Amino acid sequence: MTKTLSSPKTVNAQKPLLVVLSGPSGTGKSTIVAELLKRDRRFCVSISATTRPRRSAEKEGKDYYFLSPEEFRNKKRRGEFIETASVFEEWYGTPKKLLLEALKHNRLVLFDIDVHGGMSIKKWRKDAVLIFVLPPSMSALKGRLSGRKTESATEMKLRLARALKEISFWSKYDYVVCNNDLNETVELIRSIIRSESQRVVRCRTITFR
Ligand code: 5GP
Repeated sequence: MTKTLSSPKTVNAQKPLLVVLSGPSGTGKSTIVAELLKRDRRFCVSISATTRPRRSAEKEGKDYYFLSPEEFRNKKRRGEFIETASVFEEWYGTPKKLLLEALKHNRLVLFDIDVHGGMSIKKWRKDAVLIFVLPPSMSALKGRLSGRKTESATEMKLRLARALKEISFWSKYDYVVCNNDLNETVELIRSIIRSESQRVVRCRTITFR
């Protein structure tokens, strides 16, 4: 007769984890976020609101909540955003309601937001993890921006000039990764998140059964 021993279990109740990804437009952050979501079901993503026009491949409520400037202003006035930033002459904001709901359920939340947004999130939650994503080079960034054909020549110039300003923020972040290879970058970010979620400060309780 075999005897089954019940192995002792350790239950580690985790606090929520906020992971911010920032980096110049065209670095591949949204592709990285999509891959992270595919590879780990625990992740959820904070969907921002924006006043910028929807690109043809984008879906309302999946990529962004697309608002008119007036709708955005009203929501901002009513305090419905955790943070807002003006990027490329359009407004972007992180909606408060869904984020607070995700935090209540101890979720692992990903943000694809600019450096000012990153700084605001860190100020709001000191335990947020900030990851700066660098493009392999400026010429690679130019290539990616022109390849996606979603911006006019003027918008491209604006994005490249802003890229340099954004990159100057890298040292304020907790981690920096260079997106040379999508798969490697995604796995590197997953390993950062795995280690971060094991931090003692992130444990609510530990129960031995
Ligand atoms: P895009 O127009 O290319 O989708 O985004 C332009 C920039 O705005 C990107 O750097 C993106 O990370 C940033 N962004 C998107 N949503 C938000 C947000 O809610 N807050 C802030 N601060 N930046 C955002």
